[in-house]
Amino acid sequence: MTKLDGADGVAKAAGRLKADAELKKLMARYYQGVFWAKRVRRPIAWITSGTPVEPLYAMGIVPVYPENYGAILGSRKVAAEFCEIAEGAGYSHDLCSYARGSIGSMMADRGPLGGRGLPAPDLLISTKNICNVVVKWWEVIARHYGKPLFVLDVPYVAEEPATPHQLAYVRGQLEEMIAFLERHTHRRLSMSRLVPVLKRSTETVALWERVQACRRASPSPASALDMFTNMFPIVTLRGTEDAVRYYRMLAEELDERVRRHEGPVPDERFRLVWDNIAIWHNFRLVKYFHERGAVFVGETYTNAWGAYEFSPEDYRDPLAAMARQYSSVLLNVGPAVRLARLVKMCRDYRADGVVFHSNRSCKTYSLSQYILARGIQEQLGRPTLFIEADMTDPRAYADAAVKTRVDAYLEILDGRRADDAGGVAGTGAGRASAAGGTV
Ligand code: SF4
Repeated sequence: MTKLDGADGVAKAAGRLKADAELKKLMARYYQGVFWAKRVRRPIAWITSGTPVEPLYAMGIVPVYPENYGAILGSRKVAAEFCEIAEGAGYSHDLCSYARGSIGSMMADRGPLGGRGLPAPDLLISTKNICNVVVKWWEVIARHYGKPLFVLDVPYVAEEPATPHQLAYVRGQLEEMIAFLERHTHRRLSMSRLVPVLKRSTETVALWERVQACRRASPSPASALDMFTNMFPIVTLRGTEDAVRYYRMLAEELDERVRRHEGPVPDERFRLVWDNIAIWHNFRLVKYFHERGAVFVGETYTNAWGAYEFSPEDYRDPLAAMARQYSSVLLNVGPAVRLARLVKMCRDYRADGVVFHSNRSCKTYSLSQYILARGIQEQLGRPTLFIEADMTDPRAYADAAVKTRVDAYLEILDGRRADDAGGVAGTGAGRASAAGGTV
């Protein structure tokens, strides 16, 4: 750690989090546990990130997330190799790269985790609350392994809250999902085991929120680099003691950083919000922002996981509570809801602008970004930047072109700062567009 000027109470540069070492162990333990489960014939379910996972943990079923595996292929820089295997078998280059990479690894039965592909599933659950890709993708997996598939149908929630009719329907879907799990695993779901899992999910989410809230401080004690990698437990281990323990440790480390005025960008010039999934194959881009004094203080992607909280009243009807929580996930709500959440995040974290990763893979996430950008300019007068990339496939990314846009964007932010210092009159949309609202 570098101390900037040797004086106490001044901002100091912080390196990687100490919790990172524990995170690596946690990931290794989780995937070793999955391979072990196969050996001892514990049921393995391949599920989407939008699946209500709590019943599975309560029934002793091991959840595996092909989307997380897709992110691993990206961060290990082997996604293109596995995408090409899928493309060679006829899957379109325009298909989500999590799907292509994961299908390629499944077909070749190899991957970056000890050379093997993921252990085969015993059953599969797909959901309609994140995108339509996962429905067809899971059908491909089900056919490949000859295993049963359940698709949890969740109607789109254009405006919050979801209607009572929608929630009753999703509750019915959850009953069917549980019946499917019981039928294919010969295990029963008992409420006495489900409620403690829901409590641990709630505790995990509360700690995650506490971690995020630390980033309101200046300097922010963590950036997108830290937060994207730290999503792993809240995605895959939500509802377990491991997740609770891990986030307690992380929250304490960030609290300590806030007390000591430490952060990855101690001399923060700009505070930014990131929209869309990480560019897993190129974290150097985030460092490029850091080197120019810009830090990410929030991401819509990491923020989306602060949703799954259950109150004591929910324990009387956990299925109704899960129907409510899993209906309003980020990619299942209309643009107006997404905009309201983004505006709130910008205000809460005092962001100077929003960087939109226009993600070639994830159409669901990227489609309404221009509506969001316009809303941010109109409601907050903050400039926005668009970056064209793909979350795991490096073939859809042009580093020099992206950096040119980043430089132009930071110049606009600089210009606004100079205007503010010079007392230029006017706020809001007019001033933002005068400064070039979107790059
Ligand atoms: S299209 Fe988007 S939401 Fe669907 S699996 Fe791919 S990344 Fe996830």
